[in-house]
Amino acid sequence: MICPECSEEIKDSVSYCPYCGIKIQLQENKDEKDLKIKELEKKVTNLEHDLNRNNNFFNRLEKDNSLIQYKPSKNDNIISKTCCIICIVWIIFMILMLIVMVIHFSGKNVI
Ligand SMILES: [Zn+2]
Repeated sequence: MICPECSEEIKDSVSYCPYCGIKIQLQENKDEKDLKIKELEKKVTNLEHDLNRNNNFFNRLEKDNSLIQYKPSKNDNIISKTCCIICIVWIIFMILMLIVMVIHFSGKNVI
């Protein structure tokens, strides 16, 4: 840092200027730190604000979702029923195939 009295370059750690002997107050540093702290506090406040806004947004979204709940139409119902039937038929078919194969192979083993 630079001495405020004699403008000589001095070490940051010294408390007295070795050139003019004036007591060095670390006011500047402190001010800088305070400024940085204030800046950081501002940033944190901004972040908190953003977070709150985002939370509000998601809360509103959830509310909207509950308001506009998806109601399946008759068409969807028919489609889902058809899907169910196809699934059941497919499963029955697979079971039948399995039974046929088991009978076939066990028959071969016996003979
Ligand atoms: Zn000095």
